[in-house]
Amino acid sequence: SHHHRFNFFTSFLTFRWVRCIHMEPTTTAALSPNTRRRHRKIVVIMGATGAGKSRLSIDLATRFFKNSEIINSDKMQVYRRLDITTNKITMQERRGVPHHLLGAFDPTQSVVNPNDFRKLASDTISDIISRRGLPLIVGGSNSFIYSLVTKRFDPQSDVFNGTNPDPVSSEFRYKCCFIWVDVCLPVLNQYLSKRVDEMLDSGMLEELSEFFGSGEHLTVKRSGLGQAIGIPELEGYFRTVNGTDAEKVYNEGVRRIKDNTCQLAKRQVGKILRLKDGGWDIKRVDATEAFRAVMAADSGGGRVAEIWEKQVVEESVKIVKQFLEE
Ligand code: ATP
Repeated sequence: SHHHRFNFFTSFLTFRWVRCIHMEPTTTAALSPNTRRRHRKIVVIMGATGAGKSRLSIDLATRFFKNSEIINSDKMQVYRRLDITTNKITMQERRGVPHHLLGAFDPTQSVVNPNDFRKLASDTISDIISRRGLPLIVGGSNSFIYSLVTKRFDPQSDVFNGTNPDPVSSEFRYKCCFIWVDVCLPVLNQYLSKRVDEMLDSGMLEELSEFFGSGEHLTVKRSGLGQAIGIPELEGYFRTVNGTDAEKVYNEGVRRIKDNTCQLAKRQVGKILRLKDGGWDIKRVDATEAFRAVMAADSGGGRVAEIWEKQVVEESVKIVKQFLEE
């Protein structure tokens, strides 16, 4: 952590220096109101599960906007435990970029609802801005994003669900730059199914086995971490003592995890489109080709990186640069 702070501080100095030398002398007089407004600026990276939001945020934070700090807006990742099951970005992948509200709450003690998130994340934004950082809000829970950025938030309202959802407000309490990392659903579904297999292989099964074995599934809040995809789907498997049924029950559980993950992705895209229709200026960047390349058996990693760089990173950098200059 000491190491991270040091890196953050030095890159912050570099950033300020670059900004200062580009400043027009004529803008100096008008600096005071401008800086105040600039200090309320946040970048929000939206998108379905698996679309590459974390990857993009680290690319932006490590190479282009080095004063960035990330605030997690995934409603399952705010809790401790089940790091693989909920797909938290690992320490290594974070590359020293500060992350907030990630694995920060005890899932047996608390449920973080959108109204809690509004308070927690806005306090974090204020802290980041006070150290002259750029807050990047990263995560797929659109109800969290909505509660955070809207000027007035009514905890009773629901703009996404039900037969007669409340109207979408597009009055914001921050200057927001919304970026939507989009992957067309058939391609994303194919990737998600593969990702579930990889997650299971890389320790998700052991993680859940321990979780059920120690009885934690009985102590986490049902309306909190208890809803994470993987828990209800594999509960039956971990209860099965009869060996002959185990494989069948397991395969059925995995099938349901894949199914529910694809359903989640589809719902998330639906919510983003609802916000867009409600007047939110959401800039879409298309990561479909990069994901096609990931899936193509013959393509090397180099080609994937090249497509990702050109079509997702460069586009996003343009959008954020433009936003910071406004
Ligand atoms: P709403 O509150 O309207 O359901 P939301 O945008 O707040 O929408 P989502 O992020 O879409 O919430 O999550 C909805 C459900 O999807 C969660 O309750 C959980 O079952 C599952 N889910 C979401 N993120 C994860 C995750 N990282 N790991 C596992 N399951 C998840």
